[in-house]
Amino acid sequence: MPDLAKPTAALVYSNELSQHVLSPNHPMRPVRLRYMHELMRASGLLDWPVLLQDVPRLASREEILRCHDADYVDAVRVIGSGGIVPSMHAFGIGPGDNPPRKGMYDSTALVVGSTLVATELVRSGQVPVAFSPAGGVHHHAMFNRASGFGVFNDAAIAIQGLTDAGLRVAYVDIDCHHGDGVQAAFYGTDRVLTISLHESGQWLFPGSGFVEETGEGEGTGYSVNVPFAPYTQDDVWLRTFDEVVPPLVRAYSPDLLFVQLGIDTHFTDPLTHLQLTTQGFTEAVSRLLALGTEFGGTVAVGGGGYDMGAVARAWTMATAEMAGFALPEQVPGSFDSVTGLSAFSDEPGPAPLPEDAAQEVEQYAGRSVEAVKSAFFTRFGI
Ligand SMILES: [Zn+2]
Repeated sequence: MPDLAKPTAALVYSNELSQHVLSPNHPMRPVRLRYMHELMRASGLLDWPVLLQDVPRLASREEILRCHDADYVDAVRVIGSGGIVPSMHAFGIGPGDNPPRKGMYDSTALVVGSTLVATELVRSGQVPVAFSPAGGVHHHAMFNRASGFGVFNDAAIAIQGLTDAGLRVAYVDIDCHHGDGVQAAFYGTDRVLTISLHESGQWLFPGSGFVEETGEGEGTGYSVNVPFAPYTQDDVWLRTFDEVVPPLVRAYSPDLLFVQLGIDTHFTDPLTHLQLTTQGFTEAVSRLLALGTEFGGTVAVGGGGYDMGAVARAWTMATAEMAGFALPEQVPGSFDSVTGLSAFSDEPGPAPLPEDAAQEVEQYAGRSVEAVKSAFFTRFGI
Protein backbone atom coordinates (compact mmCIF):
# COMPACT_ATOMS: atom_id res chain seq x y z
CA MET A 1 0.00 0.00 0.00
CA PRO A 2 1.28 3.49 -0.77
CA ASP A 3 1.84 5.86 2.13
CA LEU A 4 -1.45 7.77 2.09
CA ALA A 5 0.05 10.74 3.89
CA LYS A 6 2.45 11.39 1.03
CA PRO A 7 1.10 12.24 -2.40
CA THR A 8 3.24 10.88 -5.22
CA ALA A 9 2.07 13.46 -7.77
CA ALA A 10 -0.34 16.34 -8.25
CA LEU A 11 -2.80 17.07 -11.04
CA VAL A 12 -3.93 20.68 -11.45
CA TYR A 13 -7.21 20.86 -13.31
CA SER A 14 -10.79 22.10 -13.31
CA ASN A 15 -13.40 21.85 -16.05
CA GLU A 16 -13.32 25.64 -16.37
CA LEU A 17 -10.11 25.11 -18.38
CA SER A 18 -11.98 23.10 -21.02
CA GLN A 19 -14.97 25.31 -21.75
CA HIS A 20 -13.80 27.97 -24.20
CA VAL A 21 -13.71 27.65 -27.97
CA LEU A 22 -11.01 29.52 -29.92
CA SER A 23 -13.10 29.70 -33.10
CA PRO A 24 -15.44 27.36 -34.99
CA ASN A 25 -13.35 24.49 -36.45
CA HIS A 26 -10.17 25.59 -34.65
CA PRO A 27 -7.94 22.51 -34.21
CA MET A 28 -7.04 23.45 -30.62
CA ARG A 29 -10.09 22.28 -28.74
CA PRO A 30 -9.84 22.83 -24.96
CA VAL A 31 -12.63 20.26 -24.54
CA ARG A 32 -9.85 17.68 -25.02
CA LEU A 33 -8.95 18.30 -21.37
CA ARG A 34 -12.44 17.37 -20.22
CA TYR A 35 -12.25 14.15 -22.24
CA MET A 36 -8.86 13.43 -20.61
CA HIS A 37 -10.31 14.04 -17.15
CA GLU A 38 -13.32 11.82 -17.88
CA LEU A 39 -10.98 9.05 -18.99
CA MET A 40 -8.95 9.48 -15.80
CA ARG A 41 -12.16 9.12 -13.80
CA ALA A 42 -13.39 6.09 -15.73
CA SER A 43 -9.99 4.44 -15.24
CA GLY A 44 -9.99 4.85 -11.46
CA LEU A 45 -7.03 7.24 -11.50
CA LEU A 46 -8.95 10.04 -9.77
CA ASP A 47 -9.74 7.67 -6.88
CA TRP A 48 -6.03 6.91 -6.35
CA PRO A 49 -5.43 8.34 -2.89
CA VAL A 50 -1.84 9.46 -3.46
CA LEU A 51 -2.72 11.61 -6.47
CA LEU A 52 -3.18 15.11 -5.07
CA GLN A 53 -5.82 17.00 -7.03
CA ASP A 54 -5.69 20.78 -7.05
CA VAL A 55 -7.43 23.53 -8.99
CA PRO A 56 -6.01 26.45 -10.95
CA ARG A 57 -6.14 30.11 -9.96
CA LEU A 58 -6.11 33.21 -12.15
CA ALA A 59 -2.59 34.49 -12.73
CA SER A 60 -2.20 38.15 -11.83
CA ARG A 61 -1.30 40.84 -14.36
CA GLU A 62 2.08 41.22 -12.63
CA GLU A 63 2.81 37.53 -13.08
CA ILE A 64 1.92 37.69 -16.78
CA LEU A 65 4.14 40.78 -17.16
CA ARG A 66 7.16 38.69 -16.13
CA CYS A 67 7.38 37.55 -19.75
CA HIS A 68 5.10 39.85 -21.74
CA ASP A 69 4.96 43.45 -22.89
CA ALA A 70 2.37 45.62 -21.07
CA ASP A 71 0.81 46.95 -24.30
CA TYR A 72 0.28 43.41 -25.55
CA VAL A 73 -1.20 42.22 -22.23
CA ASP A 74 -3.56 45.21 -22.22
CA ALA A 75 -4.61 44.53 -25.81
CA VAL A 76 -5.53 40.94 -24.90
CA ARG A 77 -7.50 42.26 -21.93
CA VAL A 78 -9.48 44.70 -24.09
CA ILE A 79 -10.20 42.04 -26.73
CA GLY A 80 -11.13 39.57 -24.00
CA SER A 81 -13.75 41.92 -22.62
CA GLY A 82 -15.34 42.36 -26.04
CA GLY A 83 -13.52 45.55 -27.04
CA ILE A 84 -11.84 46.35 -30.32
CA VAL A 85 -8.10 46.81 -30.72
CA PRO A 86 -7.41 48.18 -34.23
CA SER A 87 -3.73 47.20 -33.97
CA MET A 88 -4.45 43.59 -32.95
CA HIS A 89 -2.65 42.19 -36.02
CA ALA A 90 0.59 43.72 -34.74
CA PHE A 91 0.10 41.57 -31.64
CA GLY A 92 -0.36 38.38 -33.69
CA ILE A 93 -4.13 38.31 -33.13
CA GLY A 94 -6.54 37.88 -36.03
CA PRO A 95 -8.36 35.27 -38.11
CA GLY A 96 -6.50 31.95 -38.18
CA ASP A 97 -4.31 30.53 -35.43
CA ASN A 98 -4.92 33.21 -32.79
CA PRO A 99 -8.44 34.56 -33.26
CA PRO A 100 -9.75 37.38 -31.06
CA ARG A 101 -12.48 36.16 -28.73
CA LYS A 102 -14.42 37.17 -25.67
CA GLY A 103 -12.92 35.67 -22.52
CA MET A 104 -9.49 35.45 -24.15
CA TYR A 105 -7.70 37.13 -21.25
CA ASP A 106 -9.33 35.27 -18.36
CA SER A 107 -9.22 31.81 -19.90
CA THR A 108 -5.51 32.24 -20.67
CA ALA A 109 -4.75 33.76 -17.25
CA LEU A 110 -6.37 30.65 -15.76
CA VAL A 111 -4.04 28.42 -17.79
CA VAL A 112 -1.06 30.43 -16.55
CA GLY A 113 -2.39 30.16 -12.99
CA SER A 114 -2.77 26.41 -13.41
CA THR A 115 0.90 26.08 -14.30
CA LEU A 116 1.88 28.40 -11.45
CA VAL A 117 -0.06 26.24 -8.95
CA ALA A 118 1.73 23.13 -10.28
CA THR A 119 5.08 24.88 -9.99
CA GLU A 120 4.37 25.99 -6.41
CA LEU A 121 3.38 22.44 -5.42
CA VAL A 122 6.75 21.08 -6.56
CA ARG A 123 8.84 23.99 -5.35
CA SER A 124 7.32 23.83 -1.85
CA GLY A 125 8.17 20.13 -1.68
CA GLN A 126 4.55 18.97 -1.40
CA VAL A 127 4.93 16.63 -4.37
CA PRO A 128 7.87 15.43 -6.45
CA VAL A 129 5.93 16.03 -9.67
CA ALA A 130 2.92 18.13 -10.64
CA PHE A 131 1.08 18.21 -13.96
CA SER A 132 -0.78 21.16 -15.47
CA PRO A 133 -2.23 19.63 -18.64
CA ALA A 134 -3.85 22.90 -19.75
CA GLY A 135 -0.41 24.52 -19.87
CA GLY A 136 2.34 24.15 -22.43
CA VAL A 137 0.17 24.70 -25.50
CA HIS A 138 1.18 28.38 -25.22
CA HIS A 139 4.87 27.58 -25.82
CA HIS A 140 4.93 29.63 -29.06
CA ALA A 141 3.69 32.84 -27.38
CA MET A 142 6.25 35.64 -27.65
CA PHE A 143 7.04 38.70 -25.53
CA ASN A 144 4.75 41.03 -27.48
CA ARG A 145 2.62 38.78 -29.67
CA ALA A 146 0.44 35.70 -29.83
CA SER A 147 1.68 32.83 -31.98
CA GLY A 148 0.69 29.27 -32.86
CA PHE A 149 -2.38 29.11 -30.52
CA GLY A 150 -0.27 30.64 -27.73
CA VAL A 151 -1.29 33.86 -25.98
CA PHE A 152 0.48 34.04 -22.59
CA ASN A 153 3.45 31.71 -22.29
CA ASP A 154 2.60 29.90 -19.04
CA ALA A 155 5.78 27.79 -19.06
CA ALA A 156 8.04 30.82 -19.53
CA ILE A 157 6.16 32.77 -16.84
CA ALA A 158 6.47 29.94 -14.32
CA ILE A 159 10.15 29.41 -15.12
CA GLN A 160 10.86 33.14 -14.87
CA GLY A 161 9.35 33.05 -11.37
CA LEU A 162 11.74 30.25 -10.44
CA THR A 163 14.80 32.05 -11.81
CA ASP A 164 13.72 35.27 -10.06
CA ALA A 165 13.87 33.22 -6.86
CA GLY A 166 17.44 32.23 -7.67
CA LEU A 167 16.82 28.76 -9.11
CA ARG A 168 18.32 27.26 -12.27
CA VAL A 169 15.91 25.33 -14.45
CA ALA A 170 16.22 22.78 -17.25
CA TYR A 171 13.27 22.93 -19.68
CA VAL A 172 12.67 19.92 -21.93
CA ASP A 173 10.00 20.30 -24.63
CA ILE A 174 8.87 17.13 -26.44
CA ASP A 175 6.00 18.73 -28.40
CA CYS A 176 6.07 18.06 -32.15
CA HIS A 177 6.65 21.78 -32.73
CA HIS A 178 9.76 23.72 -31.72
CA GLY A 179 9.28 25.43 -28.33
CA ASP A 180 10.32 28.76 -29.81
CA GLY A 181 8.55 31.06 -27.34
CA VAL A 182 10.21 29.51 -24.30
CA GLN A 183 13.56 29.42 -26.11
CA ALA A 184 13.21 33.12 -26.97
CA ALA A 185 12.33 34.06 -23.37
CA PHE A 186 15.61 32.60 -22.08
CA TYR A 187 17.85 32.91 -25.13
CA GLY A 188 20.20 35.33 -23.42
CA THR A 189 20.59 33.66 -20.02
CA ASP A 190 22.45 30.67 -18.59
CA ARG A 191 19.89 30.37 -15.76
CA VAL A 192 17.67 28.21 -17.96
CA LEU A 193 18.78 25.36 -20.21
CA THR A 194 16.16 24.84 -22.91
CA ILE A 195 16.08 21.59 -24.88
CA SER A 196 13.46 21.11 -27.60
CA LEU A 197 12.98 17.87 -29.55
CA HIS A 198 10.64 18.37 -32.51
CA GLU A 199 9.81 17.78 -36.14
CA SER A 200 12.28 19.93 -38.07
CA GLY A 201 11.31 23.48 -38.91
CA GLN A 202 12.21 22.54 -42.47
CA TRP A 203 8.74 20.97 -42.69
CA LEU A 204 6.68 22.32 -39.78
CA PHE A 205 5.59 25.50 -38.01
CA PRO A 206 7.21 27.63 -36.60
CA GLY A 207 10.06 27.01 -39.05
CA SER A 208 12.78 27.29 -36.39
CA GLY A 209 14.52 25.00 -33.90
CA PHE A 210 17.71 24.21 -35.78
CA VAL A 211 20.79 22.97 -33.94
CA GLU A 212 22.58 26.23 -34.79
CA GLU A 213 20.22 28.18 -32.48
CA THR A 214 22.41 27.85 -29.39
CA GLY A 215 21.66 31.04 -27.45
CA GLU A 216 23.25 34.49 -27.32
CA GLY A 217 25.38 36.51 -24.91
CA GLU A 218 25.41 34.82 -21.49
CA GLY A 219 22.91 32.33 -22.88
CA THR A 220 25.28 31.02 -25.55
CA GLY A 221 25.41 27.26 -25.19
CA TYR A 222 22.15 26.98 -23.21
CA SER A 223 19.65 26.56 -26.03
CA VAL A 224 19.54 23.04 -27.46
CA ASN A 225 17.51 21.92 -30.47
CA VAL A 226 17.05 18.39 -31.75
CA PRO A 227 15.12 18.32 -35.04
CA PHE A 228 13.64 15.12 -36.49
CA ALA A 229 12.56 14.22 -40.01
CA PRO A 230 8.86 13.55 -40.70
CA TYR A 231 7.75 9.96 -39.98
CA THR A 232 10.22 9.43 -37.13
CA GLN A 233 8.88 6.63 -34.91
CA ASP A 234 9.31 5.58 -31.25
CA ASP A 235 12.60 3.68 -31.55
CA VAL A 236 14.62 6.42 -33.27
CA TRP A 237 12.97 9.18 -31.22
CA LEU A 238 13.71 7.48 -27.87
CA ARG A 239 17.26 6.55 -28.83
CA THR A 240 17.93 10.16 -29.81
CA PHE A 241 16.38 11.42 -26.57
CA ASP A 242 18.67 9.11 -24.57
CA GLU A 243 21.78 10.31 -26.37
CA VAL A 244 21.07 13.98 -25.79
CA VAL A 245 18.71 14.78 -22.91
CA PRO A 246 20.01 12.91 -19.82
CA PRO A 247 23.70 13.80 -20.38
CA LEU A 248 22.95 17.49 -20.94
CA VAL A 249 20.51 17.82 -18.04
CA ARG A 250 22.91 16.02 -15.69
CA ALA A 251 25.83 18.18 -16.79
CA TYR A 252 23.77 21.34 -16.28
CA SER A 253 22.51 20.05 -12.89
CA PRO A 254 19.41 22.25 -12.51
CA ASP A 255 17.50 22.91 -9.30
CA LEU A 256 14.31 21.74 -11.00
CA LEU A 257 13.19 20.05 -14.20
CA PHE A 258 10.35 21.60 -16.23
CA VAL A 259 8.87 19.49 -19.03
CA GLN A 260 6.43 20.24 -21.84
CA LEU A 261 4.53 17.09 -22.83
CA GLY A 262 2.86 17.90 -26.16
CA ILE A 263 1.36 14.79 -27.75
CA ASP A 264 1.03 16.15 -31.28
CA THR A 265 3.96 13.82 -32.04
CA HIS A 266 1.34 11.05 -32.22
CA PHE A 267 1.03 9.18 -35.51
CA THR A 268 -2.68 10.05 -35.80
CA ASP A 269 -2.23 13.76 -35.12
CA PRO A 270 -3.84 15.75 -37.94
CA LEU A 271 -1.37 18.68 -37.91
CA THR A 272 2.05 17.01 -37.81
CA HIS A 273 4.16 14.19 -39.25
CA LEU A 274 6.06 12.41 -36.49
CA GLN A 275 4.81 8.91 -35.71
CA LEU A 276 5.02 8.26 -31.99
CA THR A 277 2.63 5.99 -30.14
CA THR A 278 1.05 6.59 -26.75
CA GLN A 279 3.37 3.96 -25.26
CA GLY A 280 6.45 5.60 -26.83
CA PHE A 281 5.31 8.96 -25.45
CA THR A 282 4.76 7.42 -21.98
CA GLU A 283 8.23 5.90 -22.10
CA ALA A 284 9.64 9.38 -22.72
CA VAL A 285 7.63 10.73 -19.79
CA SER A 286 8.94 7.95 -17.57
CA ARG A 287 12.55 8.81 -18.50
CA LEU A 288 11.94 12.49 -17.81
CA LEU A 289 10.40 11.74 -14.41
CA ALA A 290 13.38 9.57 -13.46
CA LEU A 291 15.66 12.45 -14.42
CA GLY A 292 13.54 14.89 -12.37
CA THR A 293 14.04 12.84 -9.21
CA GLU A 294 17.76 13.69 -9.42
CA PHE A 295 17.07 17.44 -9.48
CA GLY A 296 14.43 18.69 -7.06
CA GLY A 297 11.39 17.37 -8.92
CA THR A 298 9.49 17.87 -12.13
CA VAL A 299 6.90 20.41 -13.18
CA ALA A 300 5.00 19.08 -16.20
CA VAL A 301 2.72 20.94 -18.58
CA GLY A 302 0.69 19.69 -21.54
CA GLY A 303 1.10 21.09 -25.03
CA GLY A 304 -0.10 20.37 -28.53
CA GLY A 305 -2.30 17.38 -29.32
CA TYR A 306 -5.14 17.53 -31.83
CA ASP A 307 -6.36 13.94 -32.00
CA MET A 308 -8.85 13.79 -29.13
CA GLY A 309 -8.40 10.08 -28.42
CA ALA A 310 -4.62 10.28 -28.41
CA VAL A 311 -4.64 13.28 -26.05
CA ALA A 312 -7.04 11.64 -23.58
CA ARG A 313 -5.10 8.38 -23.52
CA ALA A 314 -1.56 9.83 -23.52
CA TRP A 315 -2.10 12.34 -20.73
CA THR A 316 -4.00 9.80 -18.64
CA MET A 317 -1.06 7.42 -19.12
CA ALA A 318 1.42 10.19 -18.24
CA THR A 319 -0.47 11.10 -15.06
CA ALA A 320 -0.70 7.43 -14.05
CA GLU A 321 3.06 7.17 -14.58
CA MET A 322 3.62 10.23 -12.35
CA ALA A 323 1.35 8.93 -9.60
CA GLY A 324 2.47 5.29 -9.71
CA PHE A 325 -0.99 4.07 -10.71
CA ALA A 326 -1.48 0.91 -12.78
CA LEU A 327 -3.98 1.60 -15.55
CA PRO A 328 -6.08 -1.17 -17.05
CA GLU A 329 -4.93 -2.25 -20.50
CA GLN A 330 -8.24 -1.41 -22.11
CA VAL A 331 -9.99 1.95 -22.17
CA PRO A 332 -13.00 1.37 -19.88
CA GLY A 333 -16.30 0.85 -21.71
CA SER A 334 -17.91 3.52 -19.53
CA PHE A 335 -15.78 6.17 -21.27
CA ASP A 336 -17.72 7.31 -24.32
CA SER A 337 -16.65 10.93 -24.88
CA VAL A 338 -14.36 9.75 -27.67
CA THR A 339 -15.53 6.71 -29.58
CA GLY A 340 -13.51 3.98 -31.25
CA LEU A 341 -10.83 3.61 -28.58
CA SER A 342 -9.79 0.14 -27.46
CA ALA A 343 -6.48 -0.04 -25.59
CA PHE A 344 -4.42 2.72 -23.95
CA SER A 345 -1.41 1.60 -25.97
CA ASP A 346 -1.47 1.77 -29.75
CA GLU A 347 -1.76 -1.80 -30.96
CA PRO A 348 -1.13 -1.75 -33.81
CA GLY A 349 0.93 1.41 -34.07
CA PRO A 350 1.95 3.05 -37.34
CA ALA A 351 2.96 0.81 -40.24
CA PRO A 352 6.72 0.19 -40.34
CA LEU A 353 8.46 2.54 -42.77
CA PRO A 354 9.81 1.32 -46.09
CA GLU A 355 13.51 0.57 -45.73
CA ASP A 356 14.83 3.66 -47.53
CA ALA A 357 12.53 5.98 -45.56
CA ALA A 358 13.53 4.30 -42.29
CA GLN A 359 17.16 4.87 -43.19
CA GLU A 360 16.59 8.55 -44.02
CA VAL A 361 14.75 9.13 -40.73
CA GLU A 362 17.52 7.45 -38.78
CA GLN A 363 20.27 9.34 -40.57
CA TYR A 364 18.51 12.66 -40.03
CA ALA A 365 18.28 11.98 -36.26
CA GLY A 366 21.90 10.81 -36.25
CA ARG A 367 23.02 14.09 -37.81
CA SER A 368 21.07 16.04 -35.17
CA VAL A 369 22.74 14.06 -32.38
CA GLU A 370 26.22 14.59 -33.83
CA ALA A 371 25.60 18.31 -34.30
CA VAL A 372 24.29 18.68 -30.73
CA LYS A 373 27.25 16.74 -29.37
CA SER A 374 29.78 18.86 -31.20
CA ALA A 375 28.04 22.12 -30.24
CA PHE A 376 27.43 21.35 -26.56
CA PHE A 377 29.11 18.26 -25.11
CA THR A 378 32.66 19.63 -24.87
CA ARG A 379 31.35 22.89 -23.43
CA PHE A 380 29.52 20.92 -20.72
CA GLY A 381 32.51 18.65 -20.09
CA ILE A 382 30.66 15.53 -21.30
ZN1 LIG B 1 2.73 21.41 -31.07
